[in-house]
Amino acid sequence: MTDFRDKLPPDLRAKQRTLVHNHNIRIMLTWVGFCSLAFVALQVLRPYPRAALTVAIVALILMVYVALVFIPKADARQCQRIGFTCPSCGKPLYDQSSIHGHKSSLITRGVCPHCDHSLVTTITV
Ligand SMILES: [Zn+2]
Repeated sequence: MTDFRDKLPPDLRAKQRTLVHNHNIRIMLTWVGFCSLAFVALQVLRPYPRAALTVAIVALILMVYVALVFIPKADARQCQRIGFTCPSCGKPLYDQSSIHGHKSSLITRGVCPHCDHSLVTTITV
């Protein structure tokens, strides 16, 4: 598979790196928060297994909500803030890759994930 990341203009490439880094930190903090909450709940509520299980399930639901709703919104806000937006449609360019094989069209084709506007610099020699 072709990787277009290094064919992006240098400023977009730098912003893309920043977004990926911050996105990964958000995911890691969410995961650590979930594990901490579940661990504390299981320790503190050890005499009350039903309550501990309930808190652990609520923590899991909260983690999924944060991962699927809050983090993408935070990514989009950061895109707007640092100017990592499509010059054609103005929408955020960051589109996370997933463990299920989804790769952003920015990476695979060098185009905006929303309108397919090409963002690759053409180098003429
Ligand atoms: Zn666009």
